[in-house]
This record gives sequence, structure tokens and C-alpha cells, in this order.
Amino acid sequence: MARESDFRFHVADLLAHPGHRRTVTIDSAIDWGFDLSRLGPQLVGEMVLESASGGLVVRGPISTMVHHTCHRCLTEWDEEVVVDVLEALGVPDDPDGHPLHGDVADLEPVLLDAVLLVIPLSPTCRPDCLGLCAVCGADLNTGSCPGHDEPPGNAFAPLRDLLQP
Ligand SMILES: [Zn+2]
Ligand SMILES: [Zn+2]
Repeated sequence: MARESDFRFHVADLLAHPGHRRTVTIDSAIDWGFDLSRLGPQLVGEMVLESASGGLVVRGPISTMVHHTCHRCLTEWDEEVVVDVLEALGVPDDPDGHPLHGDVADLEPVLLDAVLLVIPLSPTCRPDCLGLCAVCGADLNTGSCPGHDEPPGNAFAPLRDLLQP
């Protein structure tokens, strides 16, 4: 028996009446982690559940905060993500769709899958992020790495001396 959650809705009334629809409010924390991007915890949205094709169609915008860590320079930032969800549950002709559990629709995996699709696996703070210096660990975007292989007499040598205590 699956746990009760705010993402589970009894939809027997809808399944009995093709074409009927109901709007449900999602405002719940999810428990989910990802290497370089953490979601939520709150998912917020108004989902329309509609009885169709022997199953259920779920659609509507869902929003959440995503906390990213740049995989190059380790800068962290938060970003609000809004995803337009359009998913089917328990539709017999849709083997790739999500299942219904009897007359219960569990929207948590549905919404997570939808959000996952738009979350980058390796987020970068900007497309041309230079990352960290492999020698000193300085953020190369800020120019704080003094450089390491320049010949003696380099014009930046005095600057390097300032930066390296
Ligand atoms: Zn970066
Ligand atoms: Zn360096």
C-alpha cells in the first residue's frame, strides 16, 4: 500500500464519466535530490485532471525552485522553473504513460518526470563559463587566477605578486 501523499487523488468519479474534468491544487513539498540541481522542495500549480481515452489526462503549469550548482565553477544559484505539464495516466493505448493505481492518480512521479525533462544534467552558470583553474582553484571567470606558466618578465607578474601572498 503506497503512502498517502498530497499528490494522490481519487479519481473514480472522473473515470466513470469520460470528458469530465476537475482542477486540483498542488502545493506540496517533494523529496527528491539530484547531483547538481536540487528541486523544490515545493511544487506549486493548478492541474486539470480530465477523463479521456480510458484513462486520465493531466495538464497545467507546475512551478518550483531549482537550486543549481555550476558543474564548471561551482557557483550556486536559484532559479524558478515553470513547466507546462501534459501527461496521460492509465491510458490503455499509451504504454509509455504513467499508471493509475486503481482509482488513485499519483501525480508525484508524473510531475517530477515533467520537471526533470527541463532540468539540465550539467548546469552551467553561463554558456561560456571558464570554470576553475586546475592549478590554484581560482574562478577563471573573475580573472583571479594569476596564471602559472607565463615566462619571466610577463606584464602580469606584478599583479600576480599582489594576488599571491
Ligand atoms: Zn560557472
Ligand atoms: Zn590558477
